[in-house]
Amino acid sequence: MPNLRCDVVVVGAGPAGSMTARYAAMNGCDTILIEKRQEIGSPVRCGEGLARHFVEDTKLPYNRKWIAAEVKGAKIFSPNGTELTIEEASAGNEVGIVLERDQFDKHVAKEAAKEGAQILLKTTATAVLKQDGAITGVRVKQLEDEFNIEAKCVVAADGYESQVGRWAGFRTLLKAGDVTGTLQYRMTNIGEGYDFPNYCEFWLGSIAPAGYIWVFPKDESTANVGIGISLDRLHKRQDIKGFLDRWIQTQPRMQHAQTLDMVTGGVSTCAPLKKVTGDRIALVGDAGRMIDPITGGGIGNGMYAGMLLGKTLGECNEKGDFSDAALQPYEKAWRAKMEENLYRNWLAKNKLVTLTDQEFDDIVKILAEVGVHKLSVRAILKVLKEHNPQLVEKFAEFI
Ligand SMILES: Cc1cc2nc3c(=O)[nH]c(=O)nc-3n(C[C@H](O)[C@H](O)[C@H](O)COP(=O)(O)OP(=O)(O)OC[C@H]3O[C@@H](n4cnc5c(N)ncnc54)[C@H](O)[C@@H]3O)c2cc1C
Repeated sequence: MPNLRCDVVVVGAGPAGSMTARYAAMNGCDTILIEKRQEIGSPVRCGEGLARHFVEDTKLPYNRKWIAAEVKGAKIFSPNGTELTIEEASAGNEVGIVLERDQFDKHVAKEAAKEGAQILLKTTATAVLKQDGAITGVRVKQLEDEFNIEAKCVVAADGYESQVGRWAGFRTLLKAGDVTGTLQYRMTNIGEGYDFPNYCEFWLGSIAPAGYIWVFPKDESTANVGIGISLDRLHKRQDIKGFLDRWIQTQPRMQHAQTLDMVTGGVSTCAPLKKVTGDRIALVGDAGRMIDPITGGGIGNGMYAGMLLGKTLGECNEKGDFSDAALQPYEKAWRAKMEENLYRNWLAKNKLVTLTDQEFDDIVKILAEVGVHKLSVRAILKVLKEHNPQLVEKFAEFI
């Protein structure tokens, strides 16, 4: 293949990359979206939970094809089994729809294509191209072929394991305490209990050190059953399987369950990056560390930031200027929308990981008795402070 030329090359066709490509193309950029896998969205490495408002915020047309289940809200379980139910509207960024992520990711990419973005599969970025120090595109490998995609701006949307940002000089390396290792089974033949399949479930405590276990229903007998544990709590990464298997054995409703697939992966739980733009480059989604440090959810933030970035790229194209200064509207807009929350949740996560099972029991008991109107750190702490100030001493700075 001869070298290609475009205004914007987006590396990675996950929700963040495809949404960026969609809005960049819609706003006049000649856009190429590259994806290293042979099929967009597959294999799925995700719990697939997403709050409905992200679909509306990014003006993504609804399609039943990518909705596996719609839930009423979230149930949170403390170590002694105390249950807190939160209705959907207040249940946070991962609760509302349980996706068919393979279909969903393809759907977002289709919307990008509709706007004119060109999609290249099995096309892996292998280096960032530079001329006299300035970024000029990416080198790619497509099957056995290698060529350059020259672009006025490169978008790193290459996910949690992102390399493009690092090649361009961004410091995106993570500390072990800011990485959660995950393992998830897609299980079927799940029986009755805990109002399954009407709620997304979150199980807290030492069953998942510095993390949690989730059960996100896909249909009346099938769910994504996964666990996240902070890497600094694991002696060996393989130990994570034992934690999840032991918990499943405690669940009578899962005694006859069978596993349809199994995935592992990592999620970042770090503070927001200081900078995600540079001259002729921007980072977005997991590549820009936009995952919520408490929940590990990143689909919605990635899509939203992708929309903001695509709009800014359109403005840059009109001005003929993709410098760091010209990309600032994106930097400012995503920070205004989510930085404070990401930072607060990162600080709170660092305290949450120190809680004992007894403390989780006490907290969930109070919240279950009193009720909580919003699943945010601030709202929860306010309720707890009113009812048991001692419990929230560790979190005093957040209130
Ligand atoms: C087990 C697990 C469960 C999760 N559950 C949830 C959940 O329930 N809800 C939620 O909101 N989030 C969840 N997450 C996080 C969520 O999956 C991510 O936040 C989301 O996928 C981020 O989207 P993205 O577009 O930034 O990156 P990705 O979806 O990772 O997309 C990046 C794309 O870039 C491609 N790519 C990488 N390198 C290159 C390259 N060099 N060249 C070309 N292409 C490249 C990859 O193949 C990939 O398709 C979960 C994560 C894990 C691991």
